[in-house]
Amino acid sequence: MTITTSHFINGAWTESGGRTFAVTNPLNDELVAEVAAGTAADAAAAVAAAAAAFPAWANMGPGARQALFLKAADIVERRTEELVQLMAVEGGASRAFSTFQIRLSAAMLRQAAGWGYLPAGDVLRSDTPGRMALVTRKPLGVVAGFTPWNGAFYLAWRTFLLPMAFGNTTVIKPSELAPMSSGLIHAEILEEAGFPAGSFNVVTNAPGEAAAIGEVFFESPAVRCINFTGSDKTARILGERAGRALKRMVLELGGFNPVIILDDADIVESVKAVTFGAFLHQGQVCMNSRKVYVARALHDEFVSALSARVQSLKVGDPTDPSVIIGPLINDSALEQIQLRVKDALDRGATLVTGGRADGRLYPPTILAHVPAGAICTTGSNETFGPLLVVEAFDDLEDALRDAQDTPYGLSASIMTGDRARGLDIAQRFDSGIVHVNAPTMASEASLPVGGVKASGWGRSGYYSLEDFTEIRLTTMSSEPGRYPF
Ligand code: ADP
Repeated sequence: MTITTSHFINGAWTESGGRTFAVTNPLNDELVAEVAAGTAADAAAAVAAAAAAFPAWANMGPGARQALFLKAADIVERRTEELVQLMAVEGGASRAFSTFQIRLSAAMLRQAAGWGYLPAGDVLRSDTPGRMALVTRKPLGVVAGFTPWNGAFYLAWRTFLLPMAFGNTTVIKPSELAPMSSGLIHAEILEEAGFPAGSFNVVTNAPGEAAAIGEVFFESPAVRCINFTGSDKTARILGERAGRALKRMVLELGGFNPVIILDDADIVESVKAVTFGAFLHQGQVCMNSRKVYVARALHDEFVSALSARVQSLKVGDPTDPSVIIGPLINDSALEQIQLRVKDALDRGATLVTGGRADGRLYPPTILAHVPAGAICTTGSNETFGPLLVVEAFDDLEDALRDAQDTPYGLSASIMTGDRARGLDIAQRFDSGIVHVNAPTMASEASLPVGGVKASGWGRSGYYSLEDFTEIRLTTMSSEPGRYPF
């Protein structure tokens, strides 16, 4: 499958001066697509189209908008097999991961389809006689989004669909590593569904050329919010720029995502939850678990059961539906994990399983007895790959302290047979999400996913109302005013 494509601007597929870049299969470097290498001029055209489309989109009746969203959900489901194939060859996603994303995407479209009918504001009482106060939610204008390569298909919907559901128009800049599944395929779907020209636009860029496009987003007065999903490293650069432009940002960044297994936990359930939570998409999702703290009484049994289950995960070409672990996205991802494993082993850690690459295929890897100071066990170093550190604890307070000794605060899990105890401990986590008896990776389209601290600002689902709308206060007085002068 080789696709040549262009930008999607104002409802049309638009060439960009003929320059393209190659997108290749991370498994074997085969060409997947030739994608347009966009410029600042392309980004400016897309922003202008989105700005022109904004008044009509913002004022479209809820029923008309709902019909479009529902149609898009049906198209997503109809194209399932093609999407599974695309996510496999472009991003190395297993069928388990791509179908998970497709289900979430269709669910999010169907939920957001109804939001136009929800109350648009409040009527407040006023202390001034005869005054009525209306508080109405208004869309912001154009929301520009950076969509990531990892949970490419679902996270792209999350980046532009939520703002669109509240009446904003959008321009997105997909990741250079997977531009088809993080934006261009969405343009095909929305085009077929009949979304109005300009309501949704996509501008792609060659590797290393993102800054010029980003600059247009920050500089354009029509762009009122930047919605970024990616690394905290890049978010710090963009955040500084947004500060200078005084532009709202929504950030969904990385996480350290600890799991705490208490001495009363069910070992079989804990093993299943940790295997899924740590190794879905070969550990390249912001909510994957990076470290497990196990009560010492359960530690040895847990580690041997986990190791057995993890070794049963098939590693290979993700176009094979039985494969669970596909390739890492690129050589830099491979180097990062190899560096972390080598560093831990050099310091005296024990390799429980994994640890040997075959090309960009890296098996699910578990390390135990990792000395303090190793890169992979330091909460400030998110490992973006299939590497999990397991550690025994004697004192829960020590485990809780260590698990939170991280700049991140995205997701955490507690496994326990005592749900009330789990809920108590959950309240002590400084984290956007805490699950009791579920993996750290437990997304649902309706739930507000998002982080605290270096994991970002903003929430998904209906709670993104706060991020993608602003409040207007309107008052109306029916009696003459009383003024002090
Ligand atoms: P990753 O390396 O996993 O792709 P990053 O956080 O580095 O994650 O990048 C996410 C997105 O941010 C990409 O789409 C990239 O093009 C974009 N990006 C990176 N650096 C800049 C920059 N200086 N200005 C604008 N966009 C950038």
